[in-house]
Amino acid sequence: MTKRSYNFNAGPAALPLEVLKQAQEQFVDYNGIGMSIMEVSHRSKEYEQINDETQQLMSELLGLPAGYKVLFITGGASTQFTMIPMNLLTAGKTGSYIMTGAWAEKAYQEAQLVGEVSISASSREGGLLNMPAIADIKAPSNSAYVHITSNETISGTQFNDFPNTGEIPLIADMSSDILSRQIDASKFAMIYAGAQKNLGPSGVTVVIVREDLLKNEPKNLPTMLRYSTHLKNNSLYNTPPVYSVYMVNLVLKWIKANGGLAGIEAKNREKTALIYNTIDNSNGFYEGMVEKADRSLMNITFKLQSEELEKQFLKEAAASSFVGLAGHRSIGHLRASTYNAVPYESCKALAEFMQQFQSKLS
Ligand SMILES: *Cc1c(COP(=O)(O)O)cnc(C)c1O
Repeated sequence: MTKRSYNFNAGPAALPLEVLKQAQEQFVDYNGIGMSIMEVSHRSKEYEQINDETQQLMSELLGLPAGYKVLFITGGASTQFTMIPMNLLTAGKTGSYIMTGAWAEKAYQEAQLVGEVSISASSREGGLLNMPAIADIKAPSNSAYVHITSNETISGTQFNDFPNTGEIPLIADMSSDILSRQIDASKFAMIYAGAQKNLGPSGVTVVIVREDLLKNEPKNLPTMLRYSTHLKNNSLYNTPPVYSVYMVNLVLKWIKANGGLAGIEAKNREKTALIYNTIDNSNGFYEGMVEKADRSLMNITFKLQSEELEKQFLKEAAASSFVGLAGHRSIGHLRASTYNAVPYESCKALAEFMQQFQSKLS
């Protein structure tokens, strides 16, 4: 059997082993058609079935009410930073952003290129190491939307709760925590996520949109950058990233088989408790980087007392098959990304490794 690493990569990230094996089985001959799914038309009944079923699974897992549509778009979450203001930020309106970290900042900067924007709450004062209080989120009444980043992948903060924005549509970048916990999806007018953290490989961005949101779209938008193009064509306007959507399909079935969002959330809480408890019980040897109340279930950021010690930690971790534990280049230190597909066993092994590393040095 091939040895699998303890994969804590931030993105692209771990995929469930069961899913990889299933994909491997179907790689050369998909369901007896004598070809791989990559080799057939995206208009074929095989792909159409994957396309429809994947939308259906996403809708079922999130418990979407009627009126929502699941779209598969290319260009990553980064293209959504642009498409959102292009489609929704009409004259006289402001795009309200909640400034929580590097990804929120990027979304905000893109919107600034398109129209008027404002910051309706921020965690800049706290060094982007906490989330603003929900009660402090106050969007101007002429907001076209309020945009939040549910999980800040780089700093490791996550919203525990979401604002109630009333008539103003709430939009969330859930790239790094979609389907990781139970949420009330009906609070959101739009949810989007690049697939490569919690949903599958890179190449597809899932956009979940409440259809009424799109009724005022500007008429002069380029075709591919209009949500209505993808909506009207069932995400088949042009050639979709067939293999990525196929992999997302398998991952969603895996989530469903593992107890849906309730089951996945319970598992994620158990997994992260192993590592956070190790940090908290280390008498300051390890230090969590963000405020406890806003700690992410997906990206655990922590540090040691010196850069030198962190280098040694990473070196020894690598020698023990741990991958992806260096912090993002912009903030350094250490980060363990514990997405849905990261097994409990990997988290347990990491907690034990951390404890051994500490006891060896003290
Ligand atoms: C990774 C990430 C992105 C960027 O996604 P791309 O698909 O690479 O454009 C955006 N937002 C968040 C929260 C992310 O974690």
